[in-house]
Amino acid sequence: MSKPRVAIMGLGIMGSGMAGRLLSSGFPLTVYNRNKDKAAPFASAGATVAGTAREAATGAQIIISMVADDIASRGVWLGENGALAGTSRGSVMIECSTLTVGWIKELAAAAAQRGCELLDAPVTGTKPHAASGELSFLIGGSEAALATVQPVLAVLGRQCIHLGPTGSGALLKLINNFMCGVQAASLAEAEAMIAAGGLDLKQSLEILTHGAPGSGLVQRAAERAFANDFTPNFPLHLMAKDLGYAIDQASHFGQNLTTASSALAIFKDAIAKGYGDQDFSAVIKSQQRG
Ligand code: NAP
Repeated sequence: MSKPRVAIMGLGIMGSGMAGRLLSSGFPLTVYNRNKDKAAPFASAGATVAGTAREAATGAQIIISMVADDIASRGVWLGENGALAGTSRGSVMIECSTLTVGWIKELAAAAAQRGCELLDAPVTGTKPHAASGELSFLIGGSEAALATVQPVLAVLGRQCIHLGPTGSGALLKLINNFMCGVQAASLAEAEAMIAAGGLDLKQSLEILTHGAPGSGLVQRAAERAFANDFTPNFPLHLMAKDLGYAIDQASHFGQNLTTASSALAIFKDAIAKGYGDQDFSAVIKSQQRG
């Protein structure tokens, strides 16, 4: 059976890895990125490069978006020359970016009016997982739409978890990332305290990362900070964005996410100090004195 044409919009850290996987798995692929320079390498690898999101969606059965935030997503789907206007009835739209539940529901309604279905399918995993097809998808939307896109998601990830109706994936992703942000912020404060108290950093981290506080995220962030390597896998400003979205979402439930608010203050301080485009683990460096 011939493979469906897939369009991917957003060729940043994550989208570029995903596009590479789709090409190497033999899917006919159209790519779109706001900054055209990022699309050029995919043309030589066999992808069709679209000049607009609308052009990318035209003729594609499955359209994926992997962009920074709600504003970017709104722009690529509904903006001038946005993708929705290029979709055909029955196309499935997959929004993989980490976004608010409110925007996802609005986009799903716009898709339905056009005779298309939207899946919210944000991912866990980071740059290397996107490039090697080892992401995990947290999915909201219909079982039928998920079944249609399963062969595509299978080359991008090792698991697709269907959580419920539209917005379920977006919601769990925000919960996932606010917990990650809180852990990273607490590690930043812990390292500052280790330094202030004159403890040996290497020995202290060995104990903390192999002990009860040593989650996978804490271990990886501590390693990056110890190596002083903040090349972005997950840019710090995007973690701040997710903390803000989670706080906002919780407020709709009448909940005050105090841990996320404290973590967000630390991430905002890191951005003010110029670390926003570095890896989120640079939050640790931002809290160091001197
Ligand atoms: P990134 O490298 O910063 O790429 C962001 C992408 O969004 C680029 O293609 C950028 O286009 C596009 N974009 C930004 N603003 C735009 C706008 N106003 N209009 C159109 N396009 C716009 O980010 P990333 O790390 O790939 O992350 C993408 C999404 O995945 C985010 O929602 C992030 O939270 C989520 N995520 C990231 C990771 C990770 O580890 N990196 C893991 C899980 C989920 P330009 O090139 O033109 O700027």
